[in-house]
Amino acid sequence: MKYVTCSLRNETVRHLGVVRENRLLVLRNPAASEWPGPFPSSLLELIEAGPEVWRRMQALAESLPVSTDTSHPLERVRLHAPIPQPAKNIVCLGRNYAAHATEAARARGQEIKVPDAPVFFTKPRTSVTGPYDPIPWDASVTQQVDYEAELAVVIGVGGKNISAARALDHVFGYTIINDVSARDLQQRHMQWFKGKSLDGFCPMGPWLVTADEFGDPQNKPISLRVNGVTKQSASTADMIFSVAVIIESLSKGMTLEPGDIISTGTPEGVGFARTPPEYLQDGDLVETEVEGIGVIRNRVVAENQ
Ligand code: MG
Repeated sequence: MKYVTCSLRNETVRHLGVVRENRLLVLRNPAASEWPGPFPSSLLELIEAGPEVWRRMQALAESLPVSTDTSHPLERVRLHAPIPQPAKNIVCLGRNYAAHATEAARARGQEIKVPDAPVFFTKPRTSVTGPYDPIPWDASVTQQVDYEAELAVVIGVGGKNISAARALDHVFGYTIINDVSARDLQQRHMQWFKGKSLDGFCPMGPWLVTADEFGDPQNKPISLRVNGVTKQSASTADMIFSVAVIIESLSKGMTLEPGDIISTGTPEGVGFARTPPEYLQDGDLVETEVEGIGVIRNRVVAENQ
């Protein structure tokens, strides 16, 4: 299933929907007798409702006819981030691809060292924005906006001390995140959080692909283009810590909950590590792609000029 959070034309209300045959179907409560209990009004509510409700929703989504009366062309709807308001910060990994860890250390004149354990930081939920929304750039705040293509994992079944062997059973699905980063703020504040957390610095989507449909998370091509020029091109096979190991490590002594989002780090090719460094400019179009999910497309738009 490809679940979306969307608004129909001229509406501001957000709907839970599903994409089938490249068209959007809004998921609404069928006759009360057919749906026991409360009908999830958002994707987060669906995830929190647990596997039995997931199966029921999938059956409903698959039963709907994809006709011009019952569905909408994707270009006529507005897609939001699949989980536009996560309950918590998004957990992110730094340096989870060896080639990126190497290029980052080289660019900063640091010793090249691949981490022994996952490097975690977070982005606040206020940074989340939609798959085709602009990336706002306030030049009085940062002069060094950079991109990072990432595969993001959404937890379905919570837990603590989850083993790597069982970790993927806890995943609801996968989506794409561009971990937009203000490099000058990262450096100035001696810590990544501030530079990763500006409003609009976490484009996400275009949809959440369920784990059964996505399959093995460690064999997916991942890429990023700026104005049509490929800047990152790698495979999730190159992760230092796999999705399963990340979940095992993060959940040690720390409860993961349904709807928690983990962004698994970026491969090589980021702007600050290039010679000379390249930062995003007003009007640049950034396309972030993960095979098996799709593409998010975000234009940098200068604000407060
Ligand atoms: Mg990142």
